[in-house]
Amino acid sequence: MKKLIIGNWKMYPASIKDAKAKFSGIKKVASGLRNVQTVICPPSVYVGDLKKIISGHRCVLGAQNIWIENEGAYTGEVSPAMLSSLGVHYVIVGHSERRAMGETDELISKKVVAGIKAGLTVVLCVGEKERDLDGEYLKLIAEQLTIALRGVSKKDLKQIVVAYEPVWAIGKYALRAATAEDALEASISIKKTLAGLYATAATEVPILYGGSVDAKNAEEFVTKSRVDGLLVGRTSLDVVAFTEILKKIGNLK
Ligand code: PEP
Repeated sequence: MKKLIIGNWKMYPASIKDAKAKFSGIKKVASGLRNVQTVICPPSVYVGDLKKIISGHRCVLGAQNIWIENEGAYTGEVSPAMLSSLGVHYVIVGHSERRAMGETDELISKKVVAGIKAGLTVVLCVGEKERDLDGEYLKLIAEQLTIALRGVSKKDLKQIVVAYEPVWAIGKYALRAATAEDALEASISIKKTLAGLYATAATEVPILYGGSVDAKNAEEFVTKSRVDGLLVGRTSLDVVAFTEILKKIGNLK
C-alpha cells in the first residue's frame, strides 16, 4: 500500500505567493514518488490557486476543517461541498488545535459524516493530552474514535483515515516527540478499537502518526510503529525538510 504523507500547513504562510512557491517545490518531488501519496492541507483561502498548479494524482489538496452543512447562514465557515467542488480530496477533522477551540466529539462526529457525504476522505485526529501510568489514555482514544465514527458505516470506511496525534507531542511547545514505541502502542490500540466497531473491514483504515515529525524521525515512525503514513505540521512548511521526508519514505522497501 502507498504511504500517505499529509502536510498540515495550519495558518501559514501569510501570502499566496509564498504558498505557491512552497507547494510547487513539494509537488516537484512528490510527483516523482510512486510509493507515496502526498496531501497538502493549506489554509482554505489558498485552495483555488493551488489547485491550478496541481498536476497528476501524487500530490493533492486537503482542507484543515469543514462545517457540517453544505450551505447556510454560518458566517465564516467553509462547507465540504465547496471544498469538494474546488478539487479538494481530503479533510482533517478533530485536530487538537480545533478541539482546544471548543470542538466536541459530538460536533466532530457530525463533521466526519458531512465530509464523507461530500466525497472527501476524512483524516480523523485522535490523541490524548497527557499520559498516565494506568493506560487511561488508551481508553480516551477509544472513546474519541467511537463517538467520532458513530455515523460511519462499514462501506464508508474507505473514506476514513485515522491520525494518532498525542497532544503533548504537537507543535513548537511540544513536551517531546513521541517515541516509535509510543506510536506503535497507540496504533495497535486504535486497530483493536476499529476491529471492535467494524470487524475485519477495519483493516482497510490507514493509521497515521503525527506530532513533531521531522526528517530525522520520520522513517523510524513508519518502520517501527508500522503506521501507514504521517501527519506533519511545522516541517511540512519547510520544503527542503518535508521533501526529504517524502524521499525517505518513498525509498523504503
Ligand atoms: C499537526 O499540526 O498536526 C502536527 C502534527 O504538528 P507538528 O508536526 O508541528 O507537531
